[in-house]
Amino acid sequence: MSRLEDYRSIVGGDTLEELRVLGRSLAGRTVLNVNSTAVGGGVAEILSWMVPQLNELGVETRWDVIQGGEDFYQVTKMIHNALHGAPVDIPPESFRLYEDTLDQNMGRLALDADIVFVHDPQPAGLVKCRWKKKNRWLWRCHIDLSHPQPAVWRFLKPAVEQFDACVISAPAFAQALAIPQILAAPSIDPFSEKNRELAEPEVRSILDRLGVPADKPLVTQISRFDRLKDPVGVIEAFRKVKPFVKARLLLAGGSADDDPEGAQVLAEVRELAKGDPDILVLNLPPTSHLEINAIQRASAVILQKSLREGFGLTVTEALWKGKPVIASAVGGIPLQITHEHSGALVHTVDGAAWWLKRLLNEPGYAKKLGEAGREHVRQNFLLTRHLRDYLLAFHFLYNPDADIIRLG
Ligand code: UDP
Repeated sequence: MSRLEDYRSIVGGDTLEELRVLGRSLAGRTVLNVNSTAVGGGVAEILSWMVPQLNELGVETRWDVIQGGEDFYQVTKMIHNALHGAPVDIPPESFRLYEDTLDQNMGRLALDADIVFVHDPQPAGLVKCRWKKKNRWLWRCHIDLSHPQPAVWRFLKPAVEQFDACVISAPAFAQALAIPQILAAPSIDPFSEKNRELAEPEVRSILDRLGVPADKPLVTQISRFDRLKDPVGVIEAFRKVKPFVKARLLLAGGSADDDPEGAQVLAEVRELAKGDPDILVLNLPPTSHLEINAIQRASAVILQKSLREGFGLTVTEALWKGKPVIASAVGGIPLQITHEHSGALVHTVDGAAWWLKRLLNEPGYAKKLGEAGREHVRQNFLLTRHLRDYLLAFHFLYNPDADIIRLG
């Protein structure tokens, strides 16, 4: 894991000094992060560097994962989809199963840190035990909450309002809530295995190992196999363009422990791609950070054709590698891509196909978009900005009414 000092060359010394001051003034406080999976998906990705970095800044930070059976994760996936606005009908017994599972976790987890930092809806119901404790509770929502299914939001909102505050990724995700809402977009670690620089021969040998040939420009979407990531739409867009360009499509991704739908979606995608030598489908193990890094670097164009999205860290990762990205204008993606400046925003399969053809045919223009995207990420979506936002949020929990917080 990289040390904070390594970031000086990218973000400058002032940023590091500010983080150290913020961290020092929280010294002695303890933070427990709780989420629902140790691997797979954006939340685990962020926590894997956030926890050591907060510790390095002097804030004693731990990370624990709730436990549940497959039926629990089926319920939480339904809740996840419904909060993103998908039409899902959740029976009352599913809500009871959710609460029972979290009741069991309350006994198992040591929820006595000064700050309990709960990530996403799966563990949110733990908050009901907070009244026995004297600590602060912060909810981190990575979902686009702008159009939740009313029945699910009616269930979750009373739990959310028991937290001291919640953190959301984009202004559009705000809901009418009785607690303060803090804006903090996600970010990436530029020195992680997922994002560090790789030399060309290293990239090539990793792709050879994965069985991805180099004979045609590569068009890629990296995502968990999830319907909301629209892998079928990606294949449709590619097939529209294929007669006019020389390219190969790669859909690569794995699953997350808290996502029970992955295997089925993967099977559907494989069926659709069957017999087409220009479409590769790779099922990656959850530790494939270096492989994803190499795939992104080897790609000519990167797609993220999500139907709904929280923030879309895969977009951040691709932009950081200077790649031209075509992505749906959903969730936090428009925060990352300004259309025709730092990438292309699309709304349909036809839109994705049109831009794919253009970017494959105009590599100079594609390169310009990628360069602007990398600079936008450098300024806004690297871990130092994210750490600062969280440290400020922790300070806010202890000073909710202060206009100015004086750091000791
Ligand atoms: N990811 C991964 N393996 C996979 C698919 C995705 O490591 O098979 C990573 C990806 O590189 C990114 C994160 O998981 O860091 C996905 O975050 P994003 O916000 O794009 O979507 P989420 O999966 O959280 O909905």
